[in-house]
Amino acid sequence: MRRAGAAYSIKSLEPSPSGRGQGEGARGISDGAGKALAEYPHPDPLPEGEGEGVRGGGPTLRTAGDLLAAGLIDESRRAEIDAVAREFALAVTPDMAALIDPGDPADPIAAQFVPRDAELTVAPEERADPIGDAAHSPVKGIVHRYPDRVLLKPIHVCPVYCRFCFRREMVGPGGEALTPAELAAALEYIRARPEIWEVIVTGGDPLMLAPRRLAEIVGALDGIAGLGVIRLHTRVPIADPGRVTDALVAALKAEKAVFVVVHANHPRELTAASRAACRRLVAAGIPLLSQTVLLKGVNDDAATLTALMRGLVAMRVKPYYLHHGDLARGTAHFRTTIEAGQAIQRAMRFRVSGLCQPSYVLDLPGGAGKVPVGPSYLEALGEGRFAVEDRDGRRHAYPPTEDGESKN
Ligand code: SF4
Repeated sequence: MRRAGAAYSIKSLEPSPSGRGQGEGARGISDGAGKALAEYPHPDPLPEGEGEGVRGGGPTLRTAGDLLAAGLIDESRRAEIDAVAREFALAVTPDMAALIDPGDPADPIAAQFVPRDAELTVAPEERADPIGDAAHSPVKGIVHRYPDRVLLKPIHVCPVYCRFCFRREMVGPGGEALTPAELAAALEYIRARPEIWEVIVTGGDPLMLAPRRLAEIVGALDGIAGLGVIRLHTRVPIADPGRVTDALVAALKAEKAVFVVVHANHPRELTAASRAACRRLVAAGIPLLSQTVLLKGVNDDAATLTALMRGLVAMRVKPYYLHHGDLARGTAHFRTTIEAGQAIQRAMRFRVSGLCQPSYVLDLPGGAGKVPVGPSYLEALGEGRFAVEDRDGRRHAYPPTEDGESKN
């Protein structure tokens, strides 16, 4: 059954005649050795007014029964999904449900939000706190991993629950939000440390807060003299774009620089409604960045990621991070190898504008932080000399040898 909602073809990001996003256009495109990536035209700009106020109809789907009633699964999967949902929270917004093709067992949107029994298989290297938040949490709601910045986690609910989430043990309905006293203590922790220059408000999803509460938090941070940047990480503009109301945008108003980082994993998520939500934020003077998780079966090819990154840039969203999958429990089926991620980045590097290049990063288990793990094009030869690889894989001496040619 095809459900209502825009889908985007890999090649054009325009609504696909077939209603599908990933298919014929993507499959024939080499992502590495073949060096034959197709060209991707820019998506047309969203006409003024299109997508404004668009909301997926109906409530968020939260149970196997809801998914069944919505036609996203058949009865044979009810027990499987019930079993997974007892372990990890389930939510699919109407906007995301509308993008799912239930007839496609490999649908990249369903893969992100509809539970699978593979989540109940835990690999030996997986852990409940894969990036070591707890080890770096001096005060409830704060994670202080790097000297000049902290995470502030005021809320633990999200518009959707991603099946690959690295904080899946900490998020969910009924998950603890900070009490007013706990929030005050977290803010005091920041206030007392002038070395903290940036606060990353995350969760959960901070744009799930009521605008009044969000405004209080942004206002409190704005009043801390030493802070330079308030950064909010969110899935809302993509997964539940109707929440980006004028009141919510107004809640982000501050004297300090406020950045919003939107989480998007597939070009089909860039619907008219999500594009309009991002436009409302941009119109308020808020710079937008993006983060994407590299996910097997969802976006682990250069064609899909290229379409996603180009689509984001065309929405004035600068790609920031491409995350290697974290070692969260029950997520092995989503993880690629780092070599595969590097091959995809290499395939994109010289064929797509630098604007469309996120930094491929690994968050080290235990909490040691993010490390760029993208491919290198530079080999040190000693004595200030290097071999540098060009877009065709040829190596060049730098500085050049006397005859000016590549000699490596
Ligand atoms: S929105 Fe972010 S925090 Fe929430 S479930 Fe998805 S990945 Fe996890």
